[in-house]
Amino acid sequence: MTSRPSFDFPGAYIIDELDIEQLPQGTCTKVMVNLIHDGLGRSLRLPVMIGRGKHPGPVLGLTAALHGNELNGIPIIHRLFETLDLQALRGTVIGVIVVNVPAYLNNQRTFDDRTDMNHVMPGKAHGSIAEIYAHRFLHRIVRRFEYLIDLHTASFGNINSLYLRTDMTHEITAKMGYLQRPQIILHNPPSDRTLRGAAMELGIPAITVEIGNPQVFQPRRIAASLTGIRRVMGEIGMMSSDRKNGSSTCRL
Ligand SMILES: [Zn+2]
Repeated sequence: MTSRPSFDFPGAYIIDELDIEQLPQGTCTKVMVNLIHDGLGRSLRLPVMIGRGKHPGPVLGLTAALHGNELNGIPIIHRLFETLDLQALRGTVIGVIVVNVPAYLNNQRTFDDRTDMNHVMPGKAHGSIAEIYAHRFLHRIVRRFEYLIDLHTASFGNINSLYLRTDMTHEITAKMGYLQRPQIILHNPPSDRTLRGAAMELGIPAITVEIGNPQVFQPRRIAASLTGIRRVMGEIGMMSSDRKNGSSTCRL
């Protein structure tokens, strides 16, 4: 899977597609996944962290900044990895630190061409630049997940809490939603063209968590959401009590 080192994400390797089976169990890996080229021919790559536990188990995907100015999910992924005990972990956690790289670099919600990336999924193999980006993101990364927690914030002008959108008629996504213990659960069957909807179409139970406000980091909201993610990991059997070899965390 590995190709050459990336200098913009130290310690990471540049790859075209995730292949977690090739990674040794009990290790953490950083990669930059090639998606597209911009108008100047520069590669746009997604920064991804992968923690493979010592034991087999589910694959949990976490995605942040699908809207580029929604930042609270980014430190959630970093903190989870800093404390991930690989000796005890069953399965694999994949954290996509920033999904919408062009929007993040511009500190804006939408893609370069003003496309809302949460309304263009699953994208197209041959379409607009945003559609191709979405398509490759799903095929090169998301389809490896067995569960997805998509980390957003509310938009400007809303009263911002910790709330989430999930399908409460679906046993697994309802449970994932409850375990976040948010202030509000919005029962919302996955709508067309969202990342959550596209993941559900692929058979991946998915919820969308809206964590406070855009454009800022909010420590209390970050901590609450991180605790919720750990509860989901416990529920789906990713935490074992195997610590006999000592803990090894995922500090990258
Ligand atoms: Zn959003």
